[in-house]
Amino acid sequence: MGGMNASHPLLAIRTPARHFIAGAFRAPLTGAELPVIDPSDGKPFAAIARGDAPDVDAAVKAARAAFDGAWGALAPVEKGRRLMALSRAIVDHADELAWIEARDCGKPMKQARADAAACARYFEFYAGAPDKLHGETIPYTPGYTVLTWREAHGVTGHIIPWNYPMQIFGRSVGGALAAGNACVVKPAEDACLSLLRLAELASEAGFPEGTLNIVTGLGREAGIALAAHEGVDHLSFTGSPATGSIVAQEAAKRHCPVTLELGGKGPQLVFADADLDAAVPVIVNAIVQNAGQTCSAGSRLLVERSRYEELLEKLSAAFRALTVGPALDDRDCGPLIRASQLDRVKGFLADAARDKLTLAGQGTIVPGAPSSGYYVAPTLVRDVPPVSRLAREEVFGPVLAAMPFDDEAHAVKLANGTDFGLVAGVWTRDGARQLRLARAIRAGQVFVNSYGAGGGVELPFGGVAHSGYGREKGFEALAGFTTLKTVVLHHN
Ligand code: NAD
Repeated sequence: MGGMNASHPLLAIRTPARHFIAGAFRAPLTGAELPVIDPSDGKPFAAIARGDAPDVDAAVKAARAAFDGAWGALAPVEKGRRLMALSRAIVDHADELAWIEARDCGKPMKQARADAAACARYFEFYAGAPDKLHGETIPYTPGYTVLTWREAHGVTGHIIPWNYPMQIFGRSVGGALAAGNACVVKPAEDACLSLLRLAELASEAGFPEGTLNIVTGLGREAGIALAAHEGVDHLSFTGSPATGSIVAQEAAKRHCPVTLELGGKGPQLVFADADLDAAVPVIVNAIVQNAGQTCSAGSRLLVERSRYEELLEKLSAAFRALTVGPALDDRDCGPLIRASQLDRVKGFLADAARDKLTLAGQGTIVPGAPSSGYYVAPTLVRDVPPVSRLAREEVFGPVLAAMPFDDEAHAVKLANGTDFGLVAGVWTRDGARQLRLARAIRAGQVFVNSYGAGGGVELPFGGVAHSGYGREKGFEALAGFTTLKTVVLHHN
């Protein structure tokens, strides 16, 4: 714990129950608040504003004024400098931000620090973009010159989940600002505090007031109000498939474009020729990171039958060595985000017990972990039937479902056997197979002999099928955060 504890002064939240609108903290127009629970002990330790349509409206108007005014008027190079200044501020305040995130989300400190670093990296990456968004000239009929250029949408809305608030804020808002938009962000009700602090840091870094606004509150109040607001020109939603549908339908009523980053059931395919010792720590991390509450978690393990037992033996030992404890204890896993998430994960484990599936390895919750916290031990379940809920649905907890396959065709069938298609991993030394599998697997990202659950700001990210559509991260995201204009000049 590095000599710090839960009462560390950095954890004093200086801005309780306020939105951040037009460059300042504002009380909710309704005056209502929501408690903030620490997942490590299940106790409230702060409050957030319970925003609703009037707060969202104020934020959208502030963003519009910034887009039409000071932010819109800034030269691209100056916009990039503001993004870079925010990146530096995040690095300078990384410890504070990590402490806030650890307390708010239950993340082990090393994970929270990695999230702060990734957030800074997004703003660093996108800082170079505003003055490099070139257009093209298109050969057309003689007597004409045709130009294209990219324009910002205007006001972009960002609905963010609780699992990686800082990272998802960085990837979504970083790209939107780089493209020249002004933003309104609705964080998840379970995890808002780091984003309020980031908005304050952005203001100090020189973003004109109204460029970046945060409205906290419930999804069915503030979230839907943002999705439905006539003044929002583009929506970026990251969260569950069910809510993504609701948001997209609301946006469709006014033909507002939407990017949906939804769930996943990431398969890791291990062939008999793979380097198992290299694969084991990566496979474990891909499901244990953030206690499995990761859309891109590697939550299914498909292993060629001839080496199934050998790999499971190694993984069992690795799972048994894992420890779970309060966020500030910095164990392999922290608690889950809330009681209902714990019930959900326990429900999957109860189903596995009912179906007499074998738990091949389980970690340990440290004895000192408060019984009121939301802890679950990381668990490896073997011989999971491909048709079962555990093999097909997102658990969003540290539960790895293992099953054998017979040959390449069988492996691909199993890999593509869910409604999702976000991230996949393939472990094999055979170069031709690497390429065949990368093509055959339905997913937005395929890793070969590695796995990336998050990170890699340069790498376009997003899903197919029920994992969503549109891409964030990398330069590709800027296409989504802009609209292309074609200008046709007739000059004989
Ligand atoms: P969620 O859909 O419940 O909530 C996400 C956000 O939507 C929150 O801000 C919430 O307040 C808001 N919201 C809820 N109901 C709403 C409504 N009716 N209208 C508008 N907004 C509403 O999801 P969650 O439980 O917070 O997050 C977990 C899910 O998110 C998982 O399915 C996970 O896979 C997915 N996820 C995906 C990615 C990705 O990049 N693909 C990243 C993180 C999480």
